[in-house]
Amino acid sequence: MRVFNFSPGPAVVPEPVLRKAAAEMLDWHGSGMSVMEMSHRGKEFIGIHEKAQADLRALLAIPSKYKVLFLQGGAIAENAMVPMNLIGGRSVADYVNTGSWSQRSIKEAKKYCTVNIAASSEDKHFTYVPARETWKLTPGSAYVHICSNETIGGVEFQWTPETGDIPLVADMSSHILSRPVDVAKYGVIYGGAQKNAGIAGLTLVIVREDLLDRALPTAPSVFHWKEQAEGDSMVNTPACYAIYIAGLVFEWLLEQGGLPAIEKQNIAKSKLLYDCLDQSKLYLSPVRKEDRSRMNVPFKLRDPSLDEAFLKGAKERGMVQLKGHRSVGGMRASIYNAMPIEGVQALAEYMREFEKQHG
Ligand code: PMP
Repeated sequence: MRVFNFSPGPAVVPEPVLRKAAAEMLDWHGSGMSVMEMSHRGKEFIGIHEKAQADLRALLAIPSKYKVLFLQGGAIAENAMVPMNLIGGRSVADYVNTGSWSQRSIKEAKKYCTVNIAASSEDKHFTYVPARETWKLTPGSAYVHICSNETIGGVEFQWTPETGDIPLVADMSSHILSRPVDVAKYGVIYGGAQKNAGIAGLTLVIVREDLLDRALPTAPSVFHWKEQAEGDSMVNTPACYAIYIAGLVFEWLLEQGGLPAIEKQNIAKSKLLYDCLDQSKLYLSPVRKEDRSRMNVPFKLRDPSLDEAFLKGAKERGMVQLKGHRSVGGMRASIYNAMPIEGVQALAEYMREFEKQHG
């Protein structure tokens, strides 16, 4: 029996994707091979790779002057690759600090450049996105980095910052493909695949071509965006199976009506939970309303001694992975694209029932 899996990532994969992958496991399209067994240079896999790229471009309406790279190392590797590939002759990069994942990016960037914290929401425990007017960008800065959805804190940018001539770089790991994005407003977008684009092992990088000439000469080839762009993301053997699964997810997203349709579902799904939290005396949502994430919904029980009972009851009803990140405690429901609305309804119903018993 399948459960409703609220894991923050690796996370739920659309069931039709899993079924298709299962059906094609031993013999992909009459090739007599699993995708796992194919040469990455063979025509079958090249076809899978090209189709996945084309579908991702279609989904996000990526302009032609952007390269799409399918890399490895996850967002954590990109935290280092961003400064390595963008610092050029400059010395300072601006970072907006909205929580744990921003902090992780900042820590890594400090190894390669001077980091200016342009804005931070640390004063209120990372529960909001600082207004653009408060940001202090550095003239001549190499780029400005944001984490557009903080997976742990549940804080999401609901707007795209204007940064003038300074390229905007976004870690979109936990909400990429959950809503349409105006890619042209960004210099670089990156994210791991294991939330909304399939399984771990694949990192998506979308980079504006004119930014490809800024890499440090010491940048390793596999993490050198220009070398990877010129080598069709195959400077090394790519994460073939993860790319195949991402391709199936992209097809599934297109069948759903693309990102505008998915966004509607995500608004409806997240509203079910936030309404439940706002009407409750037992639970509370720590995040400022305008900045609440549609993908990761953290919440607390006002009486933490009920946490264990809440989680146990959820598990008995087939709802798992609801425990909040150890750094913040409480609960967190991650409701990515592949989480069916029935799962969110079941959780909201259970939360109300639990409140009746314990409120
Ligand atoms: N950034 C964000 C926003 C994330 O949610 C995560 C993973 N939870 C990471 C970075 C790190 O990703 P990875 O472990 O794939 O490198």
